[in-house]
Amino acid sequence: MSDRIYDIIIVGGGVMGGSTAFNLMRSDPKLKVAVVEKDPTYEFASSTLSMANVRTQFSLKENILISQYALGVLDNFGPEMAVEGEEPDISFRHEGNLFLYDQAGRPGAEAGLALQRSLGCEAEWWGLDRIRERFPLYLAGEEVEGIVGGVWGPQDGHLDAYAVVQGFKSKARSLGAEFIKGEAVRVLAQAGRVEGIELDSGEKLKSGVVVNCAGAWAAKLAATAGVELPIDPTKRQVFALDTTVKPEGPLPLTILPSGFYFRTETGDLILMGWSLEEDEVGFSFTWDRDRFMDLMWPKLASIVPAFDQAKLVRGWAGLYAVNTLDGNAILGQWPELKGFYLANGFSGHGLQQSPAVGRYISELILGRSPSLDLSIFDPARILEDRPIGESGLV
Ligand SMILES: Cc1cc2nc3c(=O)[nH]c(=O)nc-3n(C[C@H](O)[C@H](O)[C@H](O)COP(=O)(O)OP(=O)(O)OC[C@H]3O[C@@H](n4cnc5c(N)ncnc54)[C@H](O)[C@@H]3O)c2cc1C
Repeated sequence: MSDRIYDIIIVGGGVMGGSTAFNLMRSDPKLKVAVVEKDPTYEFASSTLSMANVRTQFSLKENILISQYALGVLDNFGPEMAVEGEEPDISFRHEGNLFLYDQAGRPGAEAGLALQRSLGCEAEWWGLDRIRERFPLYLAGEEVEGIVGGVWGPQDGHLDAYAVVQGFKSKARSLGAEFIKGEAVRVLAQAGRVEGIELDSGEKLKSGVVVNCAGAWAAKLAATAGVELPIDPTKRQVFALDTTVKPEGPLPLTILPSGFYFRTETGDLILMGWSLEEDEVGFSFTWDRDRFMDLMWPKLASIVPAFDQAKLVRGWAGLYAVNTLDGNAILGQWPELKGFYLANGFSGHGLQQSPAVGRYISELILGRSPSLDLSIFDPARILEDRPIGESGLV
């Protein structure tokens, strides 16, 4: 059997792979694009295990611009991704994000807020009275983590992540991208150029362009071509709680100074999570009820005392692809391997970055001038040990 040959091979068919394939096909329908995915059910993909939040609250201009673009795309996702008249429904709910700060965090929050507003975001600072007035269940007990106020982002919200993944995929496929079930076990390279990939079946797919969209598995894939990426697959746990007292209306994604976060979920549940230093690195998906009982629930009940009566409904674990250099995206061609493109290292904010990242990577590959300059995320910074500053990471 002769090798199959493509213009571009994308490894990983999660939200990044799908968005990249869609943007490539939209730009040039004649392209031969393959998307290789080892698990088309997406059982372990970060995209489908995420909190699915979109926010403009970042401190780095480019991250804010990425989210602003995402808001536009996601608000219009149904019509834009319709296939034969069928529109995907991603249920984007603009229920807001509320980042809470203590006195030490306030100057940084205000600097971030000023930047967000200068770029046209609607975020605003709320003092404690305003917070309690809007969300009467909040901060009704003892002082919590020295909170002095928060930044309210009314444009922010959450959506159905699985529907976004499937929406990009269906549209890319309808435009001619080929989705292949299989695991890329090796990136083929010679004399500083990529030549394709080898699948677990032993088959070789040939191309001068391979895009690494392998999420938490990105470093593992890159290592097969001798490329070392500072990306740790890091377990994050989410818990769903049925509280006896129900809030009147939805609660926004609320983030405490410690990083503990929660929001309402459809079905009147409360979802919560907390990224901790001791979170396990590796490919483990078990979740820990004790963590919920010992840590999460007491923390939730400290800020919302009315939630002290509740039942744990379920939990799950997913992986952040943590860029250990600076927590930010790594976007573009690897300087030491021609044709090897990276869309990696998104930590906890990749879902919302997928529209802009897919467009940017496609523009780089096709040699077009980028609609949004994201060169700050160039992979060269890894080799030069040049971290980017961003204080708004969760
Ligand atoms: C608990 C949790 C909460 C999160 N909350 C948010 C949030 O609120 N907002 C937000 O924007 N982001 C959030 N994220 C982050 C977000 O989910 C990710 O950044 C984003 O989904 C990354 O998309 P991806 O396509 O790169 O990775 P994935 O969705 O993981 O897709 C990668 C795909 O590659 C496949 N793959 C890997 N290796 C190979 C191989 N060798 N061959 C073939 N296929 C391969 C995998 O099977 C997988 O399907 C969260 C993540 C977690 C875990």
